Amino acid sequence: MSASSLRRTAPWISEPHGSSALDEKPIRHIIRNLERAYGVPVNERAAHDSDPLDMLVAVILSQATSDINSDRTFAALKRRFPAWDAVLCARESIVAETIRAGGLANQKAAVIRDVLRQIKERHGALDLSFLHDMTAADAAAYLAQFRGIGPKTVACTLLFACHKNVFPLDTHIFRILRRVGLIPQKCTDQRAHEIMNNLVPDGKFYSFHVNLIRHGRALCRPRDPACDRCPIVEYCDYGEGKI
Ligand code: SF4
Repeated sequence: MSASSLRRTAPWISEPHGSSALDEKPIRHIIRNLERAYGVPVNERAAHDSDPLDMLVAVILSQATSDINSDRTFAALKRRFPAWDAVLCARESIVAETIRAGGLANQKAAVIRDVLRQIKERHGALDLSFLHDMTAADAAAYLAQFRGIGPKTVACTLLFACHKNVFPLDTHIFRILRRVGLIPQKCTDQRAHEIMNNLVPDGKFYSFHVNLIRHGRALCRPRDPACDRCPIVEYCDYGEGKI
């Protein structure tokens, strides 16, 4: 598959990294104020030896559970199946049993095995280390072609394992970005990823992602956001009473 046809599978990623119509929002000030409030997060997992396939499985396991549960479940899976080929050979019920503590075990076991099967069929081996050498757009398009892998999973895998400029959005980040006004109140998952991938400055994807999660837990909670203590209130539509 050519690079251009691959990219059609992940239209929310574009290259070169550019600016969007929403650039008038002072994104750099927002990122700076969040870093002052919560620190500058360092992506220690993006070392050169980070394994994108390990990360892809870890991201699938992280859905709808806590970070602690998710880390434990991934460790249990690796203990029982040190090589991913062994997961493909095992009965699905055994895989599900191994990851039971993380919740949605049957569903996650099925998705993991299906994704591994697709990668093996397409690539001939269970190895995604070549993603390190691809552009963000091509790497995203490669992952997006597989059933069961959506924009958030693609973005988490590439940001956390490969340190690529791809911005993951979860429910909490969606909420904050809507309140601030960086994404429209109504827009699709893909459109929101597309906007953010074009808006976040190079080198700030990880910091902004992590600090939005911290901000969502500390102040910009689902109910009763603490706008009076918010470090980005001056840039926020909700905080300024516009919405
Ligand atoms: S001003 Fe309020 S709504 Fe806006 S980001 Fe801050 S806490 Fe959230």
